[in-house]
Amino acid sequence: MTDFTGYWIFFCNPKKWNIDEFLESGTIYDNFTVRDWHKDQFAKGQLGLVRVGHDNRIKDQLNGREKLERGIYAVVEVLGETELKEEPAPDYWNDNDLGGKKYRVDIKYLKNLLDKPILIKNLKSDSYNYDKHLIDGFQSSTMPLEAETFNRIIEKIGEINLDFTDEKFESEEDIVKLEKKYKNAVPEVKTRVSKYIERGKIAQQFKKKTGFKCQICDELGDDPYVFEKENGEYYIETHHIDAVSNLNEGSLGISNLITVCPNHHRQLHYGKVDILGNNKDELKLKIDGEEILINKIR
Ligand SMILES: [Zn+2]
Ligand SMILES: [Zn+2]
Repeated sequence: MTDFTGYWIFFCNPKKWNIDEFLESGTIYDNFTVRDWHKDQFAKGQLGLVRVGHDNRIKDQLNGREKLERGIYAVVEVLGETELKEEPAPDYWNDNDLGGKKYRVDIKYLKNLLDKPILIKNLKSDSYNYDKHLIDGFQSSTMPLEAETFNRIIEKIGEINLDFTDEKFESEEDIVKLEKKYKNAVPEVKTRVSKYIERGKIAQQFKKKTGFKCQICDELGDDPYVFEKENGEYYIETHHIDAVSNLNEGSLGISNLITVCPNHHRQLHYGKVDILGNNKDELKLKIDGEEILINKIR
């Protein structure tokens, strides 16, 4: 029994649908039929691999193309929940029966691997045991994918580009909305969302509110200023106290932010720091054996 991980395998049969022709077209937005019993599990910010199985196309269907080898041909992002709908763009199909209304999910192609697919035969010769369904294939349109397998495949591919230009990061309400929208996203997507926030307007405003000080240095009685920048403001960083990848409610919001110097920022990530309490009013932590209480600024 595979758990739902937020990562997916999208199975593709070239005899039904010419994925090579589709990928050549450069189309980015599409939808994919999902298995009925997976329909409630899809959500914005999940990621998937498109796996092509045996290519049984006949000569006419190949239309001068080479048969595809079994492998991973794309990385996709799930854009939202499943909907019961007709195939809206009946392009590239060999099979005229599109099945009418089916559970489909909108996806975005983040990485097109048509020129450099990750071949199943190569994965088989690795020492790691990848997700069984990815290697062996499965009679289904979708299957959950083990997180570790996904991460290892991405390591082979290199970075994938997630783009949040359609999202708004302007106000606290935007952040609350984003949090709801990405509630079931995979950890790396949540983390990327948080980085946008840390670089964005909200973080800028928050830095102003804390006076560009390191809130930890300040509490410890040390000089809370890092250095003055050319624009006259002090350099300071923002940190999400509760790791955003956990995405507990409120973790993207400003009540989960503190401003810190680069040193304390590193220490929060890599050092021995115990968070003893974190709510919207105060943060209690133990750092270098010393307990401190930071009042949250709103
Ligand atoms: Zn500090
Ligand atoms: Zn941080």
